[in-house]
Amino acid sequence: MRIVLARERGFCTGIRRAVSTAELALNSGAHVVATDTLLHNAREMERLRQLGLQPMEEPGVQSMGSTTVLLPAHGSLEGERKALVSSGAALVDLTCPIVNRAHDAASRSAAAGMDVVVVGDRDHRETRYLMEAAGDRLLAVVASAAELDGLPVTGATVALVYQTTQSRQVRQDVLTWFRSRGIPVADEMTLCPEVLRRQDEAASLAARCSDILVLGDRTSANTGRLVTVVADAGARVHLVEDASDILDSWFDCGDTVGIVSGTSCPESVVSEVVSALRRICPDASVGEDT
Ligand code: SF4
Repeated sequence: MRIVLARERGFCTGIRRAVSTAELALNSGAHVVATDTLLHNAREMERLRQLGLQPMEEPGVQSMGSTTVLLPAHGSLEGERKALVSSGAALVDLTCPIVNRAHDAASRSAAAGMDVVVVGDRDHRETRYLMEAAGDRLLAVVASAAELDGLPVTGATVALVYQTTQSRQVRQDVLTWFRSRGIPVADEMTLCPEVLRRQDEAASLAARCSDILVLGDRTSANTGRLVTVVADAGARVHLVEDASDILDSWFDCGDTVGIVSGTSCPESVVSEVVSALRRICPDASVGEDT
């Protein structure tokens, strides 16, 4: 077996910053709570819980003067922040700068008088953050170009803002929908470069490997999109949350197996998965994608 590791794996910069800030706060002895899941990885959240991180209940209901509250990387709504500020909590804002760049694009477009279409998963915290930024200029929230059918457009320019973890393909489909109808758009390129590089590398590896293991949590949107990218490229794809998911029957020792990871997957899972593959095929070679 040949094991090929994607060059970019483990946490992305935004999640790495969120996790290390949480660890610092917890090590300081403060009472630390998080308003939401800090990252979409159950195992990593459990590790932080064991270090003392607590979920928050009912923000603003009680005084939180001695509490440090971590706001997640995917953004926080204004009402949520106001309630926390008035509760007296010390806020640590972990919103990723790339998410804030998308937020700024939505609010700038709305302030310029444009209707805004947010392309994202409606139930995702980040999408709600972008919807709030668009305010009363929000025209629609769509997860795919197919959902644009029936959109009430006037012919005026529509601003397009993307949830940062959407795929290049979804953006292309949305642009095609507008352009094929002659509707002018202000296309804000708010996709996360790190996510795009991982998707591109996953597609490239899929063309050269018999199997691709996508490491990450089932609740992670960008992990799910990696699975789609690999499946579209025609390789066998297995979503793996940790090494215990791996089945011997997936492989034989002549396979070339690529390993990619979602942005919330710790590097430790990558190492454990490599060890599990080496238990199946002891002569397996391991190298980074070139
Ligand atoms: S995936 Fe990109 S936008 Fe999201 S937290 Fe990571 S670096 Fe930031």
